[in-house]
Amino acid sequence: MNGRLGNWRSARRQKRCSKCAAPAAYGYSDHAEESIEKIRPLCLSCLKPQLDRDYEDFNGRAVVVAPVAGPPVYVFQSTKVWDEHFPNTMIAQDVRSLVERIHSTCHECRKVAKFLWVEGAGLDEKNFIELLDRGISQTLLKNNAPPVSLCATCCVAHILRELESKRISYLEVCSPKAGDTGFVLPMGY
Ligand SMILES: [Zn+2]
Ligand SMILES: [Zn+2]
Repeated sequence: MNGRLGNWRSARRQKRCSKCAAPAAYGYSDHAEESIEKIRPLCLSCLKPQLDRDYEDFNGRAVVVAPVAGPPVYVFQSTKVWDEHFPNTMIAQDVRSLVERIHSTCHECRKVAKFLWVEGAGLDEKNFIELLDRGISQTLLKNNAPPVSLCATCCVAHILRELESKRISYLEVCSPKAGDTGFVLPMGY
């Protein structure tokens, strides 16, 4: 009974891609914590070119934590805005020091690097709060491979590989914007 009810619920929740009408596993928004009517459903095939454009256009530097299953959203937060809202957490300060470690060229293809890629092993729907409180250096980076510098193309390829291979979906995805310094993290609100 529970199983049937669960299936019925998820069928009702099934959204269609706003570009191609395929089943949509992602909501895409321009900014984190966008109101629900401004979140556009996208399938993985339509999400990819969108992320390629966004990450290419971004003029700042960002720490990008690999997508993991569990947390409901995968969004960019600017360190400046974050500090205004949550001045007592460590994440923004930590990210500002981590972006100083981004090499001038991509670890994989030698194009200009703008992103610091951090693996997400150990991150889940509960402990992302600890990451925000204490920063990435004191949490995730203690148990993961050293971060690598990536260009936009390679960073999006890494994100897509994780989404695809682990069949991860997100209610909201938003990309790095303008010339801010910030972080992309699987999290919840
Ligand atoms: Zn689509
Ligand atoms: Zn590259």
